[in-house]
Amino acid sequence: MGSENPYLGSQMIGAFRKFWNHHFFRLVFLALICYLPGCAHNPVMGPFPSGPMAPNSVIAEPPFLFPRDFYHEVGPSETLWRISKTYDVDMSNILRVNHLSDPNQIVNGEKILIPQTRGPRAVIPLYPTKRWTHIVIHHTATEMGNARTIDIMHHERGFWNGLGYDFLIDNGTDSKMDGQIEVGPRWIKQEVGAHANAAGMNEKGIGIALIGNFSKERVSPRELDSLVFLVKTLKNYYHIPDENIIGHRDVPGKTTECPGTLFPWQEFKQRIKG
Ligand SMILES: [Zn+2]
Repeated sequence: MGSENPYLGSQMIGAFRKFWNHHFFRLVFLALICYLPGCAHNPVMGPFPSGPMAPNSVIAEPPFLFPRDFYHEVGPSETLWRISKTYDVDMSNILRVNHLSDPNQIVNGEKILIPQTRGPRAVIPLYPTKRWTHIVIHHTATEMGNARTIDIMHHERGFWNGLGYDFLIDNGTDSKMDGQIEVGPRWIKQEVGAHANAAGMNEKGIGIALIGNFSKERVSPRELDSLVFLVKTLKNYYHIPDENIIGHRDVPGKTTECPGTLFPWQEFKQRIKG
């Protein structure tokens, strides 16, 4: 008989699990690891462009009640790994039905079949950093579009690295669903934005744009629901105060109507509280 007490071992594992499950202690534990010699000068902070799920990702419910086949148009810098997480369908199944042998074969703008999915879920990757202190809301001032078409537009305008926003909320045009949240390459790479070049907002503000021209039309209920979900997720994780959640037109030094004269500020501000 060994002197080891198996009961004590399981008690210790239980205690550690309890400790680990507590979000605060998990953060403290990770912070301690990051302050090991040599690491303090190189803070751990994304990017995880195609690797494991970003820490603390938040996932919204998928839109369809029952699984069905669905065609997805590949967005800028989107990986098959990310698409498989978005649709909650195994990467090998997507490769098989599209007769692909290599996940890197997919190209921007290509339509690929997603077998038996409950639709695109919003997978919001959250990277531990203190740089994001503001959220800036925009409209695209276009009736149609998606991350790919706005990326092309921003490339044509000469924006460094294309799509200037971190997130884009679709309005049901250009093969995307009404209220679908697309994550831009800048967010995945945690790069500086190209959406509000005043008051340092590109450096400290998370840029979210909704497809539409809200000086001419109202925000669709689904777009607004998705915006509320996204903003609440970001503001809670990055501890962004409500007064720092602003429209593009509220950025000091800007003269623009963005996100449009019909944007429902009162309702939006009310819904993101708490
Ligand atoms: Zn704007």
